[in-house]
Amino acid sequence: MTVRPGIVLTPRRAEARAVAGGAPGLETIVTGVGPERSRRSAINLAARCQGAPGTAVAGWTDQPRPGLEPGDVVIATEVRGPFGSVPLPSAPLVASALARAGLRVHEDPVTSADDGESAWLVEAAPDRPRVVVRVMTDEYHTLSAYRALRRSARVLATWAAAAGPRRVLLPEPRSFCAGVERAIEVVERALDRYGPPVYVRRQIIHNRHVVADLESRGAVFVEEVDQAPDGARLVFSAHGVSPAVEAAAAQRGQAVIDATCPLVAKVHREVRRFAERDYSVVLVGHAHHDEVEGTMGEAADIHLVSTPDDARRVAVTDPERVAYVTQTTLALDDVADVVDALRERFPGLVGPAADDVCYATQNRQDAVRAIADDCDLLLVVGSQNSSNSQRLVEVAERAGCSAHLVDDEREIDLAWLVGAATVGVTAGASAPAEIVDRIVATLSGLGPLDMHTRAVTAETVRFSLPEEVR
Ligand code: SF4
Repeated sequence: MTVRPGIVLTPRRAEARAVAGGAPGLETIVTGVGPERSRRSAINLAARCQGAPGTAVAGWTDQPRPGLEPGDVVIATEVRGPFGSVPLPSAPLVASALARAGLRVHEDPVTSADDGESAWLVEAAPDRPRVVVRVMTDEYHTLSAYRALRRSARVLATWAAAAGPRRVLLPEPRSFCAGVERAIEVVERALDRYGPPVYVRRQIIHNRHVVADLESRGAVFVEEVDQAPDGARLVFSAHGVSPAVEAAAAQRGQAVIDATCPLVAKVHREVRRFAERDYSVVLVGHAHHDEVEGTMGEAADIHLVSTPDDARRVAVTDPERVAYVTQTTLALDDVADVVDALRERFPGLVGPAADDVCYATQNRQDAVRAIADDCDLLLVVGSQNSSNSQRLVEVAERAGCSAHLVDDEREIDLAWLVGAATVGVTAGASAPAEIVDRIVATLSGLGPLDMHTRAVTAETVRFSLPEEVR
């Protein structure tokens, strides 16, 4: 089957030259300047545009916009004109791709007052993927506008190649777990009950959207307790803290509210129990993670291992008395490999009564496994420092599926979507479900979506709140 190239409608010949110079594979059509020519072109070109994977309207504009300079690129989030408002949901994908290419980009609505063409030209391809790119110019800066449009063309070519109908698979469960919901609620209730500022040691959960939202409501995030004033109200994050941190907060008279996930607290108790019985404790986990740092502080004779090789090298006090615990957010396969290596070396190895890898981590990994075979691409919503989200990417890759961790729709690379007929979208236990919705909405700007949900289990776990905020 021959794939038709994307069409770019440009009011002026020079604009068409800029686009063709930047991306020769695109079909450029000069439509004429002004509303009347644009209206006629939209009618005449409707059949051609309906047959193309996507239609872009591109050109420059000399209508000044506050804060924008010549060479700045405006990507329309919607076009408002005589036919009403036309939303353009794929705008964030194009805008972030242009920003990555080094252009100054602004996402804004474009109205028929901003330029005399876009509002009419988008009508050439109703119900098809559309995007509008306008480069700011004035009489002295036509060359910089020409260059910016030429550079934008390459992104438009990728956008057109990514356009088309696709299937979207949403695994369940995804997004917030009970521990994360509880931790966020602790901060929200503390703000309501005690008023801002409420200090929080480290990110309450590893997600920058959640942290930014709580910050905007009066939470103050600090790295260490000595960065919060003496006597301040201080929340410990879901990842838990070591006894040394608890002691430092007590010494400063800080009013602590502990949002440590009860499943992380359970691992702390296990470490203490093994240490009391004179076991060397091996913690399977990743260095520099907040949870690992807190757990390591629970015993003197504790050793961190991340890989089977680490397990083969770890030096313990008494090889006859070795116990292991694990970080709660690991991939189950990784844990099994490391524990096998430990058991080979220490046949008397003892472990926790029940797995430390928590129910939420396990369920989200199972859900990814259930769709990975059917996906060309899996998008995992989560921040880079989120361990459980990182593991979801690895689980998908192990199943042979291309997978990427993204904080939101702006981190999606259009090139990933080229040829991706089935896309899975999930979210780590620390990522808001709303971002999955935003990603789906953005994908809908590239073509019709056939949506499917695939559930592996239903979660009913809830944790009670600390008494200070109950
Ligand atoms: S991922 Fe598991 S351990 Fe971590 S906060 Fe959620 S429920 Fe607790």
